[in-house]
Amino acid sequence: MTKTKTVAAKKTTKKAPAKKVVAKKAPAKKVVAKKAPQKIANNKSKIAAYKSKKNEKYMSDAMKRHFVAVLLLWKEHLLDEMQKTFDHLKTKGETYADPVDRASQEEEFAFELRTRDRERKLISKIAVSLEKIKQDDYGWCDSCGDEIGIKRLEARPTATHCIDCKTLDEIKEKQLNG
Ligand SMILES: [Zn+2]
Repeated sequence: MTKTKTVAAKKTTKKAPAKKVVAKKAPAKKVVAKKAPQKIANNKSKIAAYKSKKNEKYMSDAMKRHFVAVLLLWKEHLLDEMQKTFDHLKTKGETYADPVDRASQEEEFAFELRTRDRERKLISKIAVSLEKIKQDDYGWCDSCGDEIGIKRLEARPTATHCIDCKTLDEIKEKQLNG
């Protein structure tokens, strides 16, 4: 007799927490949205990661040549993307009479313009990096002067700070922005 009672009770209480799991899924979407800017960065290179030789010094000529190639290819890719966006904005402009269509179109254009802006900034960063390679200044942290490191440069060829200084900057920035 008592057994059936507890089972029934469990059944009704069990349903409530199940809803919470569904609600928890919402913040996950934010992570996906944040990935957008990285799309460009990840697309930069089809060049295989640099393999250092034994006892090879940091930023050897071969290493520098590798990063020049990576940066140039990335720049080419970005210029290509910018041209595509530009063509798209040009051909798709003023095609919708329906206000709803126009609103979504404007949103799309705003997004594309932001992307273009980001691409333009990246291209100028690439130019700075290429200049640094020429000046033999590439691959060293602007803040502490330490090696930025090959691994980090492969992932972010325009990096100007080592991971420690970058992390510290980000923490400071977060504190400033509340
Ligand atoms: Zn540093």
